[in-house]
Amino acid sequence: MGDKGRNPAIAENLDGAGAFVIVCDHASNRIPKECEPFGLSNDVLSTHIAWDPGALGVARHLSATLDAPLFWPDVSRLVIDCNRSPDADSLIVVESEGRAVPANRGLSAQERARRLDRIHAPYHAAIEACLRRRVDARLPTALIAIHSFAPVYFGKARPWQVGIVFGSDRRLADFLIGALKVEPALAVGVNEPYSPADHVYYTVERHAGPRHLPAAMVEICNDEIGDEAGQRSWADRLAKIHVAANRSIAGASHAAV
Ligand SMILES: [Zn+2]
Repeated sequence: MGDKGRNPAIAENLDGAGAFVIVCDHASNRIPKECEPFGLSNDVLSTHIAWDPGALGVARHLSATLDAPLFWPDVSRLVIDCNRSPDADSLIVVESEGRAVPANRGLSAQERARRLDRIHAPYHAAIEACLRRRVDARLPTALIAIHSFAPVYFGKARPWQVGIVFGSDRRLADFLIGALKVEPALAVGVNEPYSPADHVYYTVERHAGPRHLPAAMVEICNDEIGDEAGQRSWADRLAKIHVAANRSIAGASHAAV
C-alpha cells in the first residue's frame, strides 16, 4: 500500500484520563512517498536536522506513565515543520544547518499548500479536538511538548542535558526548572537552547495559550536518550516531576478561587 491515503497525524492513548496531553512535533524522520526523490541520504535523514532523535521514545513512556494522550506527526520536519506557523519562513526550509534540502528549493505554492493541508492541518486539528473535548468535560489539562536537541551546534558544545522552554505562562515551567535543578548532575537550560523568540513555541502557544492551560516545552539533549534505557530513565524522571507539578498547580488554582 502506498502512503498517499495515510493520515500522518498519529494519536496514541487518545482516551488517557491523566492531567496531561503530550505533543512530539519532531518525532519522525519519515519522507512520504509523494515527496520523493527528496535528495538527502538516509545518513543525513537519521540526524537531528530531520527529526528529534529519541524524543518519541520519551514521549511514549511518559504517555503511558501519566495516562496522557500523545500526538505526533509521522513526517520529517524537513517536509514541513509542524512546530511552525503556516506563514513562518522556517515552515519548509531550503537548508538546515548549512545543508541544502534540494526537494524544497523552488517549491510551488501548490505543493506548499498540499503539505499544509495534508500534514500540518490534521495534526493541529487532532490536538485541538482532544483539548476541546477535555476542557468541555472539565478534565484538568496541561500541555507538554517533548523535543530533543543536538549536543553540538555549529561546532559549539552545548552545556545542558535538558532545557525548559516557556512563554508568558510560567506555572509548569517554573516547577520543572526548580525540580530538575535539584539534581546536581544536571545542567538545566532556562529558555535554552531555544526560546519562544526562535519561533519554536508555536504548537504550545497555539493550543495552550488561548485556553490558559499550564504548558511547557521540554528539550532533552539527544545523547541522553539515544537508547531505550535513556528514554525510559528520562521519562520516569519527568513523570515524577509532572505528577508533583500537577498537584502544585491544582492546589494553587484552588487557593486562588
Ligand atoms: Zn524539536
